[in-house]
Amino acid sequence: MLSFDDDIATAAPVPRPAQPQPAAQPAAPAASGRVNVVDKRVINGTTDVNQLVPFKHKWAWEKYLAQCANHWMPQEVNMQRDIELWKSPNGMSEDEKRLVKRNLGFFVTADSLAANNIVLGTYRHITSPECRQFLLRQAFDEAIHTHAYQYIVESLGLDEGEVFNAYHEVASIRNKDEFLIPFIDVLTDPNFKTGTLETDQQLLKSLIVFACIMEGMFFYVGFVQILALGRQNKMTGAAEQYQYILRDESMHCNFGIDLINTIKMENPQLWTDSFKAEIVELFKHAVELEYAYAEDTMPRGVLGLNAAQFKEYLRFIANRRLQQIGLDTLYPGVTNPFPWMSEMIDLKKEKNFFETRVTEYQTGGALNWD
Ligand code: FE
Repeated sequence: MLSFDDDIATAAPVPRPAQPQPAAQPAAPAASGRVNVVDKRVINGTTDVNQLVPFKHKWAWEKYLAQCANHWMPQEVNMQRDIELWKSPNGMSEDEKRLVKRNLGFFVTADSLAANNIVLGTYRHITSPECRQFLLRQAFDEAIHTHAYQYIVESLGLDEGEVFNAYHEVASIRNKDEFLIPFIDVLTDPNFKTGTLETDQQLLKSLIVFACIMEGMFFYVGFVQILALGRQNKMTGAAEQYQYILRDESMHCNFGIDLINTIKMENPQLWTDSFKAEIVELFKHAVELEYAYAEDTMPRGVLGLNAAQFKEYLRFIANRRLQQIGLDTLYPGVTNPFPWMSEMIDLKKEKNFFETRVTEYQTGGALNWD
């Protein structure tokens, strides 16, 4: 008998005083024996979550390995040119500075919300150890991203209180977070348990909102903006970090989509017409919120970017995400106005895209600069 206890998937729960006893608790699983691979499930599994192999959800393990190969740390990136540009009297226009501050204003807390969602919410509801392995890596990635934004804020000498509290103070940021937070709160509620049609659909909805709308859409205006600055040889250190973050987020989003599609396959009863209609409405609302954020961050157009391009881009992304989870596209005929973004996702670590010259990779974070 294992001594490890798990909220979801152990056979003989250790009695816990004062532990909430929700009505929807799944039947106590028989988790004390060797794992039969065909019995493994992404949700409501009854196999021992501590036995990683034999693999069933091998795609999750492969993404875990790929994400470990993408490892990077913020302090590897030299911020000297960014600091000089930011402080030079004519280095950045007021509109560009507003864009950077509003951009960071969203991101500095977004990855913390993402980490909370994984660690305090999603993880305990997922019963595939391969998927849990990826989630552990993903949680560390979110910490690295929050670290990266903090490193940029500190390097530029920005007002920390202003930037980190922007998600309360700036309406276009607050509205995005207020849209997301209820879907996180569902999963972090200690009384929430999967195992009924209703709660399984709630979990699936939260996973779709998190992977396809938050990581898959709400990050993309911000990525385009900073990477567009980098392409104009401005804020190249920040842009290099955003490029690594974009690569990570694109992996997180792809993992989330595989997770969603596997849950659908293992639990086809969840994918009802009314559920699909609800998801489509969420996408429509999210496109509006992200577009409002784009307008607020760049009210006059900046860097050769304008609001119309972002409207097209968000519709393009929404179509893509809907298709990836097996739904019809919402916006016919839209194309990608920023085709260069796909090059950004496919970067190799060694490539000095913004010529910030990382000369070698060291996990300790101490690098030599040309
Ligand atoms: Fe993420």
